[in-house]
Amino acid sequence: MPLSDDELERYARHLVLRQIGGPGQARIRAAKVLVIGAGGLGSPVALYLAAAGVGTIGLVDDDTVSLSNLQRQILYRTADVGRSKVAAGAEALAALNPGTVVEAHPVRLTADNAATLFAAYDIIADGSDNFATRFLVNDTAFALGKTLVSAAVTEFDGQLATWKAHDGISPCYRCLFGGPPPPGTVGNCSETGVLGAAAGVMGSLQALEVLKEITGAGQGLAGRLLLYDALSARFRTISVPRDPGCSLHT
Ligand SMILES: [Zn+2]
Repeated sequence: MPLSDDELERYARHLVLRQIGGPGQARIRAAKVLVIGAGGLGSPVALYLAAAGVGTIGLVDDDTVSLSNLQRQILYRTADVGRSKVAAGAEALAALNPGTVVEAHPVRLTADNAATLFAAYDIIADGSDNFATRFLVNDTAFALGKTLVSAAVTEFDGQLATWKAHDGISPCYRCLFGGPPPPGTVGNCSETGVLGAAAGVMGSLQALEVLKEITGAGQGLAGRLLLYDALSARFRTISVPRDPGCSLHT
């Protein structure tokens, strides 16, 4: 289906980009992206993907909006405090772009529901806040052959990577980290703090890498880990090799 007049106007700044253009915009419209965690990372991810015209966005989060979320979770307004995050988030995304279908999943991601949830999407964007979920997302995405774009942020530091070990060449999250750290050895952001705008940087980069995976523009982050140090205003990118001893694949 060709782009409508409304779409031609809405996405005019994409359409003039040689690496996106009409075919890229059509791929964006056809894409289905599942966002795990509608928080400090998931907020900018979902907003930018909806603004970009991603056809279907799934939001997975079982939490409600609290006042202390608003410092970084830009999907929400003060009046949303107490509401379901995915319900308030779906409303905000629909207001931004009525052309995007938003599927709200007010559940906690578990080993029992992950495969069923992932199956309906092409790309997974993980912005969850704990290691158990990150490993579950990695393993499920690999099992289903879905590309995973994963971001993390603590205090003033961010990490971003694209995992697609199902291609037989690239590494997965376990190739880098092995298994979850022992409980209690690593704090989450409610204990360590996070600068809201640093989460915004990482979530924006995450949305951008999702759009690159959808359109094929540029060089993706598979096999590399991008590190951001907000305090020194420095980015660096390191190579991540595929581990032949990885417990997930050979
Ligand atoms: Zn691996």
